[in-house]
Amino acid sequence: MYRGRFAPSPTGPLHAGSLVAALASWLDARAHGGAWLLRIEDVDTPRCVAGADRVILGQLAACGLVPDEPPWWQSQRGGAYADALQQLADAGRAYPCACTRRDIEQALAARGLAHERFAERVYPGTCRDGLAGRPARAWRLRVEGRVHWHDRRLGEAGQDVAAEVGDFVLKRADGLWAYQLAVVVDDAAQGITDVVRGEDLADNTPRQILLQRALGVPTPRYLHTPLVLGADGHKLSKQNGAQALDLADPLAALRTAAATLGLPRLGARGVADWLASAVAAWAGIIAG
Ligand code: GLU
Repeated sequence: MYRGRFAPSPTGPLHAGSLVAALASWLDARAHGGAWLLRIEDVDTPRCVAGADRVILGQLAACGLVPDEPPWWQSQRGGAYADALQQLADAGRAYPCACTRRDIEQALAARGLAHERFAERVYPGTCRDGLAGRPARAWRLRVEGRVHWHDRRLGEAGQDVAAEVGDFVLKRADGLWAYQLAVVVDDAAQGITDVVRGEDLADNTPRQILLQRALGVPTPRYLHTPLVLGADGHKLSKQNGAQALDLADPLAALRTAAATLGLPRLGARGVADWLASAVAAWAGIIAG
């Protein structure tokens, strides 16, 4: 049984870019006769905006996108993340890390590796074999090997996670749960079979697959959708001018999102009517 989800971070209202992922995940769930769930990803509390979750729910409802089960809030899921981290620690897959950003820079420099080259991501593994008496700050996953995966739109992909990312953070030095752990634990707990989300998140997928394997949970299918670009050529965001969706005309917003997804222009007498035609069009596209 297909189970999909839309998992917005409540950092502000939905804009034209986030509606593309919401609509695609909803259409794909409907075209498969499946369920569509909503999860508010409010773990990164400093980036969350009070009330944005309610605004997002209202915007989705205005577009006719209503979840089939009550939404989840990640801020209420700390116990499940703690259990998962404990499981990984017991299995020797997660370890505490004492390194500050400066420690990491120095360790990389000592090996002749410029930090910037790795987009500040590759962890040199300093604490893999113990903290050497230093206080623990964060928790990391012990990463091994290469991941191959298939994306329904982008095709085959692979990443040497150990070389390109290194042991990544599961629990941050500020005590907050990392996105990677929260998303994997919740996709598994909600029985998600299909992840449909924006292409900007595609490079997280190999890390998430490694984490799924380490936790012994299934890997969903993935479909990463085209991005809407801002005036500066980067993914549309608040920073480069994204406006909150104009709910005076939800049908216009849906049509714009559908065009990004490659759907043909559909005639309709209203939102519900348009959504029904869009499901049929999407079903035709994925049937190839
Ligand atoms: N919360 C993430 C975001 O809004 C999306 C997570 C996901 O779909 O996996 O960027």
